[in-house]
Amino acid sequence: MLNKLFKTFSQDLAIDLGTANSLVYVKGQGIVISEPSVVAINQRTGRLLAIGNEAKKMVGRTPAHIVATRPLVQGVISDFEVAEQMLRYFIEKAYKKRFILAPRPRVVIGIPCGVTEVEKKAVRDATMNAGARDVYLIEQPVAAALGAQLQIQEAGGNFIVDVGGGTTEIAVISLGGLVISKSLRIAGDRLNEDIINFSREECKLLIGERTAEELKIRIGSAHILNQLNEEARVRVDKNKTNKDKTNKDKKQSSAKISEKLEMPMRGRNLITGLPEEIIISNYDISKAMEKSIKQIIGNIKATIEETPPELLADIMSNGIYLAGGGSLIKNLDILINKETKIPCKIIDDPLTAVVRGAGMVSEDIDELSNVLLNMEDLEPPK
Ligand code: ADP
Ligand code: MG
Repeated sequence: MLNKLFKTFSQDLAIDLGTANSLVYVKGQGIVISEPSVVAINQRTGRLLAIGNEAKKMVGRTPAHIVATRPLVQGVISDFEVAEQMLRYFIEKAYKKRFILAPRPRVVIGIPCGVTEVEKKAVRDATMNAGARDVYLIEQPVAAALGAQLQIQEAGGNFIVDVGGGTTEIAVISLGGLVISKSLRIAGDRLNEDIINFSREECKLLIGERTAEELKIRIGSAHILNQLNEEARVRVDKNKTNKDKTNKDKKQSSAKISEKLEMPMRGRNLITGLPEEIIISNYDISKAMEKSIKQIIGNIKATIEETPPELLADIMSNGIYLAGGGSLIKNLDILINKETKIPCKIIDDPLTAVVRGAGMVSEDIDELSNVLLNMEDLEPPK
């Protein structure tokens, strides 16, 4: 009876607690919060000053003792207390009690696949402590696939790659569960680091994370080096055969993608210590990111190799689906398609896929309980 009443009045939530961005979905309403997973802390007093958008605005604009940190590193909670405070802030902001005795919300929350039991328990406990009545864990690729409207409850194979900030999740899903999954700690953040390292080593310029991210988003491309190699080969072939029309066509189509773009890059010269601006091209940015992108694609290929043939047949016709902010790196879909020979699509609104999928579960937790992680193995929270 009480349970039934709770179900009627409970305003359940779904949360995507990402390394880079956190999103909250309220049952019956949709996405109500989308903010960076950042907190600003006063190191002298240990006090938390701001969370989310507010905290991100403070980065780099405050005295040295105020630092902005991320409570999640590579998809898992690294600072339990801060993560709990961030969750509490999001839950309180999203959840409006409709009357005094209204029950606390049940929360469906996404976690990366391949995390340890201890890490799962940390997410569950932090969410309970932050004000949830019950917590349900869902693996992020399963949530992303639901959010992408893939028919994951059926017996067919679905291949999804979620390139986030901290992790890339590669998964084959069938009958509502993971058949194969890989969680790779190479994703958007690593690409930013690659650009910072490249700038330091090749240009002797120290740049910040935000500059690196902007370069990645504005001019970074996954496919340029591949294209350049191809163009070089086409040129050689062309010289050999003189006027080969198909090669000429090929060259024209690739030239479109690898058009040279440039952008100023500002930082501190490591030798003089003075500020400096260098013009950097999309070729350089792509070179910086090449190794990491190759690793992501190598893992996608390895997952394909492990996929049972029946499921692979479905995947070859359905394609590979890309989710997460990192999937927006220019031409990543083209390169994956080229390397795997499987069609590759970026799903609509890739940054919100996980929370939309978890939100679908929060709309009817009992009906979709088969996609949730089994929590029986985890001890009850203290
Ligand atoms: P998480 O789930 O780990 O919080 P998100 O799915 O929110 O991650 O994606 C964040 C990552 O996506 C960041 O590394 C960000 O730099 C990257 N990103 C966002 N938009 C783009 C874009 N247009 N091109 C390339 N990378 C992007
Ligand atoms: Mg994510």
